[in-house]
Amino acid sequence: MGEPDCIFCKIVAGELPAMIVDEDERTIAFMDIAPATRGHALVIPRAHSTDLLDISEADLSAVALASRRLAARAKERLGADGVNLLNSCGRAAWQTVFHFHVHVVPRYESDPLRLPWVPSEGDQAQIASTAQELSGR
Ligand code: AMP
Ligand code: ZN
Repeated sequence: MGEPDCIFCKIVAGELPAMIVDEDERTIAFMDIAPATRGHALVIPRAHSTDLLDISEADLSAVALASRRLAARAKERLGADGVNLLNSCGRAAWQTVFHFHVHVVPRYESDPLRLPWVPSEGDQAQIASTAQELSGR
């Protein structure tokens, strides 16, 4: 089953190889083939969903809990100093594989990763008007 052209569905089905490091009823986690740091893994729902806006609440919760399990293991077993969880939703946000996934990226004091933006103070009026557009209150 799954989406015919989806590589992550093929991993779930066992049709493509992957180094699986965690699994439960709803999720599997496997090593990223192009790791950003030592231990970089991906957590995915077994059921296909395209992205953050498509995934069911039950699968999203299960992926979040599995991501935390892996984060804890990366600290305990790999000696990570910290962990980033990353999800990209949409092409413009860097998503390249359209089966929902969370990157679990162990971080080390000495690693070369940097924030992809430079924090600098924003225009307060613009932030306030955008907050009104965005507000769910
Ligand atoms: P994103 O760009 O956020 O959609 O992330 C896709 C990730 O999947 C990238 O980090 C790729 O390195 C990783 N990836 C692609 N194909 C495979 C594969 N067959 N096994 C493991 N990781 C993969
Ligand atoms: Zn899929």
